[in-house]
Amino acid sequence: TMDPIGHHIQAFARTQADKAALTDEYGTLTWSEMISRANRIANRLRQDGLKTGDTVAGLAENSNNYMCLYLGTLIAGGCMVPLSGMASGEALALMVADCDSRFLFVSEKNLSLFREIRDQLERVRPGQRIGIDTRDVDSGQDLDAWLGDVSDQADPAEVTLDDPFNIIYSSGTTGTPKGILHDYRFRQRQFVRLARFGLDGDAINLVSTPLYSNTTLVSALPTLYNGGTLILMGKFNAHRFLELAEEHRVTHAMLVPVQYTRIMAEPDFDRFDLSSFKLKLCTSAPLRADVIDEAMKRWPGNIREVYGLTEGGISTTLDCAANPSKWDSVGVPTEGAEVRIIDDEGNEVPRGEIGEIVGRAISMMRGYYHREEQTREMLWTSPEGLTFYRSGDMGRLDEDGFLYILDRRKDMIISGGFNIYAVDLEKVLLEHPAVADVAVIGIPSEHWGETPLGLVVRKAGASDTEEEILAFANGKLGKTQRLSGVEFRDELPRSTIGKVLKRELRAPYWAEPK
Ligand code: ATP
Repeated sequence: TMDPIGHHIQAFARTQADKAALTDEYGTLTWSEMISRANRIANRLRQDGLKTGDTVAGLAENSNNYMCLYLGTLIAGGCMVPLSGMASGEALALMVADCDSRFLFVSEKNLSLFREIRDQLERVRPGQRIGIDTRDVDSGQDLDAWLGDVSDQADPAEVTLDDPFNIIYSSGTTGTPKGILHDYRFRQRQFVRLARFGLDGDAINLVSTPLYSNTTLVSALPTLYNGGTLILMGKFNAHRFLELAEEHRVTHAMLVPVQYTRIMAEPDFDRFDLSSFKLKLCTSAPLRADVIDEAMKRWPGNIREVYGLTEGGISTTLDCAANPSKWDSVGVPTEGAEVRIIDDEGNEVPRGEIGEIVGRAISMMRGYYHREEQTREMLWTSPEGLTFYRSGDMGRLDEDGFLYILDRRKDMIISGGFNIYAVDLEKVLLEHPAVADVAVIGIPSEHWGETPLGLVVRKAGASDTEEEILAFANGKLGKTQRLSGVEFRDELPRSTIGKVLKRELRAPYWAEPK
């Protein structure tokens, strides 16, 4: 089968040539300018020997050039591997080697990280280390110099639905990074589905999460696939976000929970005209009901929370306006998806009971790149012989089929034989008026094996003590759930896409990593 994605995107450049496609802090590219640039990149990659299915690694923040590199790689039939500039040099060198890329594109802001790994880049020769917005990479070439005078007309590669589209490395919040391989079938199905959330030709999508995360790609790529416009933020800044949203009459944004909080905390939030917003999407970590409540009141447009894994295979969504009594949940399975809950022995539990979430959906990864064993470990087979993905998350389904996430399996606290789910304790702590942010972790206890500890960020100006907050929470918690202590923190460590790094919080308390 001929894949239509490359053709599909090129066609817009003919029918809406002068419409804005991409805007970053340096300027705007129209659809025709974007495709010309992407075609030139495709031609140049082919000149350098790129074949269908070959990987192209990028280490850059969001920009017009980076998006064009993504599209150019796609037109050439390559497989994009967007890498995180927040990774350590060590992890990054591993990823570049693991993904087999012969190309590495680097932005100015990532030069020092690049220099750390330069000597370990065996497969990527100096001429194929190219600056996205800088000449200071080994080859001394920026994108324009590297492109030279190649033609801006290109025929998209012939690919099949089974061909690789991209590899995304898991953030490693729970272990070593694994390359998650998505094929054309995965993306194509996702693009069509997301058009139904209004990510269509009229969408103006403000992209403020990084392009190396699936969270971002899930909304940015479909917007272009459907002929819309992207506003790209290099580095997130809440105030700048509001300025851009107003200036560009933004209709859509995919935001992680901590961004909602930061944006609405801007002192002049209510002075911005945000009436163009139709829908905000949210994924990657739990979006608290009190945050939804505030956003529904102060920020025009609906909110749709999405739960899923980069691996795919599991996906639920919550339409917040339509389900005001279900804001603690992550909604119901998307079309074509199914969710079940299993116990430790792999048996389904009765409705309402807690267990590991497993799911199947129309979009599933092809597998972990080069890691068949780990791909197999992710699977669960139902009694009827259907293949499900294990999420590694603990949760339950309510009587209406809404899914509630309790904890990552690895973060679950087992105390005196009882399972304690951090989310229950975090909710109670957040009811205290002085508490702004919280994470509950398990720490070692001689008597119970493990015991929950609350790490609390106080609201500015609050003077309540650790003892007061502890007493408040324990007064509301069940006997087996009680916190052994509360400690204050200035802030909680989070990944670049807003997940609290519990492994990092736990580490100082444990001699051996839990
Ligand atoms: P790692 O496994 O290395 O931490 P990661 O964090 O990059 O990888 P992702 O695929 O980005 O993995 O995240 C998937 C996880 O994020 C889910 O398993 C779940 O724990 C959490 N998650 C995603 N969406 C939501 C949501 N709406 N509410 C609560 N948790 C969510």
